[in-house]
Amino acid sequence: MSHENLFEGMKGRVDEMVLQAMMKVNRELFVPNACKSLAYADMPLPIGHGQTISAPHMVAIMVQLLDLREGMKVLDIGAGSGYHAAVMAQLVGSTGYIYSVEIIPELVKMAGENLKAAGIENVTVVQGDGSLGLPEYAPYDRINVAASAPEVPKPLMDQLAKGGKMAVPVGSYYQELVLVTKEDGSTTQRLMAVAFVPLVGRFGHEG
Ligand code: SAH
Repeated sequence: MSHENLFEGMKGRVDEMVLQAMMKVNRELFVPNACKSLAYADMPLPIGHGQTISAPHMVAIMVQLLDLREGMKVLDIGAGSGYHAAVMAQLVGSTGYIYSVEIIPELVKMAGENLKAAGIENVTVVQGDGSLGLPEYAPYDRINVAASAPEVPKPLMDQLAKGGKMAVPVGSYYQELVLVTKEDGSTTQRLMAVAFVPLVGRFGHEG
């Protein structure tokens, strides 16, 4: 399996812009040494501390849902390896920015190192409880959550800009990927069944 093979099946199914962004990010740089040989398989992989890097098709689905544009400010919850943030960073470009929050200190360090090795400069990884969002830089044009919440965390809703979109898996054993669009009110679309690690923290499964 090579980097090119991985994207063969996505051609024609995933937006060209999203595909281009994913092709620019070498997933091998975000996968631990023990599973480098599987870096281009379309499956989640362990990254330590009981966490996983999402499967590429899931990153493609979520990134496409968010409809990212140049210059957008994005909040990413659950940096993990930093891969998902790296793909989003391509789409917002040098005028955009990604703030990626991770609760496990070792993964904060790892994500930072991976992003540096990949030469990505428009992402900052912040340690903290992402279920509380990151009020310092709010509001955000887009919010991406890569861990499953019991319900859409209120602080994230509050920190989403008007006209903004948020992709968030909701549930515990049975989870659904939810797309929230915030207008005067907000609309919530339940899209598909998914399997993410749990969001912990105050508005997560431990709160
Ligand atoms: N987006 C990642 C994969 C995320 S796995 C990637 O591309 O590799 C989900 C991550 O969410 C894990 O690293 C986990 O530690 C983190 N997490 C869980 N609850 C969290 C919380 N409340 N705040 C921040 N990060 C959280």
